[in-house]
Amino acid sequence: MYEDLKNKVAVITGGSKGIGSAIAKRFGKEHMRVVINFNSGDADAKKTAAEVKENGGEAIIVKADVSTEDGSQALLKAAIANFGSCDVWVNNAGMEIKSPTTELSLADWNKVISVNQTGVFLGSKAALTYFKQTNKHGNIINMSSVHEQIPWPTFASYAAAKGGIKLFTQSIAMEYAKDGIRVNSIGPGAINTPINAEKFADQAQYDQTVAMVPMDRIGKPEEVAAAAAWLASTESSYVTGITLFVDGGMTLYPAFKDGKG
Ligand code: NAD
Repeated sequence: MYEDLKNKVAVITGGSKGIGSAIAKRFGKEHMRVVINFNSGDADAKKTAAEVKENGGEAIIVKADVSTEDGSQALLKAAIANFGSCDVWVNNAGMEIKSPTTELSLADWNKVISVNQTGVFLGSKAALTYFKQTNKHGNIINMSSVHEQIPWPTFASYAAAKGGIKLFTQSIAMEYAKDGIRVNSIGPGAINTPINAEKFADQAQYDQTVAMVPMDRIGKPEEVAAAAAWLASTESSYVTGITLFVDGGMTLYPAFKDGKG
């Protein structure tokens, strides 16, 4: 546990399932107060909120589309109205659409960019504005991916969005460092969440993914949440503008793992 996180207020976008839900529950263990954002169907959000409370934290759920400015503003307002503050903002919401690039519609390209990249901009803008107005040494964590570094054919829109997050994170980290605001990204590898459910249900695809991981296993959402807790805490007080890969070594060129090449 990180003592300094106790009673801190966090907004987590896409916080109802997968990695976002694991971060919410971990923040609950840190006795934090959490705004859990969801975009459709409130069942998962309610379940996550109940677990945050069981873990010793506080939680509310807020429906909002992160690809709209109204959405990020609604989340900030909910944090201030319910918990009186906002200290940590986690831009976690994301989605992917698989398609050969020649067949990818402009509408689908825009959808992927809107949620994964514009959503990170709008969330960061809301948080930064609030941190500046209140002279708060706030903390932003952006959920990137190993695909900010590793190209991903047939998922070019997703890789473009995550590559964009990398330089957006570095740019705003530098822009607001003098204000005591820290901005970092997390780059998960292959993690067992709903986004991968269909793929991992197929044994051949599951095995193929594991083969890309030097540590020979798929990651757990809790392992990503642990990185988020560390980045949110003052234990990482001199860290800004990085991407912390949580990927079992996936970014280490695993094709070379048996000494080939
Ligand atoms: P997930 O599908 O379980 O969760 C994604 C969440 O984002 C969902 O709660 C969904 O409702 C929410 N969301 C989507 N569009 C939204 C919108 N417009 N407004 C608000 N919320 C919206 O997937 P996950 O694996 O938990 O992914 C979380 C983040 O981690 C994403 O940014 C994803 O790109 C990233 N990531 C995941 C993996 C992995 O292997 N699971 C790897 C690298 C990066």
